[in-house]
Amino acid sequence: MPLQDITDRIRAAEAEAGRAPGAVRLLAVSKKQPEDRIRAVLDQGHRLFGENRVQEAAARWPGYRGAVPGVEVHLIGPLQSNKVRQAMDLFEAIHSLDRDKLARKLADEAQARGACPDLFIQVNTGEEAQKAGVLPAGVDAFVAACRGMDLPVRGLMCIPPVDEEPALHFALLAKFAARNGLDGLSMGMSADFETAIRLGATHVRIGSAIFGDRPAAAQ
Ligand SMILES: *Cc1c(COP(=O)(O)O)cnc(C)c1O
Repeated sequence: MPLQDITDRIRAAEAEAGRAPGAVRLLAVSKKQPEDRIRAVLDQGHRLFGENRVQEAAARWPGYRGAVPGVEVHLIGPLQSNKVRQAMDLFEAIHSLDRDKLARKLADEAQARGACPDLFIQVNTGEEAQKAGVLPAGVDAFVAACRGMDLPVRGLMCIPPVDEEPALHFALLAKFAARNGLDGLSMGMSADFETAIRLGATHVRIGSAIFGDRPAAAQ
């Protein structure tokens, strides 16, 4: 689907939800996509991208940053503690802060640099064993701990279970954010971003609807 169609649908969903135009930012999720498709989206003027792997982003984005002004890349996938420095060099925001050890590492590095990417705490709203994220019962304490480390926590992020109604998870995430005084909500993907916007998403992460299916066996 052309990028323009997606941005039109985002603007329509914002209007329907009584949100300000532009209240929702679109992360074009470029993971595993061939370079020609990414180039096409850049050529259409889009500048904000999401990647789920540090290595893949490291191979791809420094080159584009040199050539295209205004590029912004957010990490939406897991971050290992030993890749924190590299991630801080590569990304304007990290949407996958999910544990104490990682928070400490980010805080140490942020102090040394005097700068830190914007952070979103990933919440495992479905309490799925195989999924990353802070469990619902631990969200408030983890937000407080991160603030205690002076980390720039901007919001919360979730990936709902594939077989459940995403609206329930989006509403839950919005509730956790509100009760912690957080404005940012990173939620909504190709199949459900309009629902997420209705429930307050500030960042939607859309891959396949923009770029087409990722090449096989590379989800
Ligand atoms: C891949 C991915 C997306 C985008 O998924 P699509 O269904 O292609 O829109 C969004 N968020 C995360 C965390 C992802 O890994």
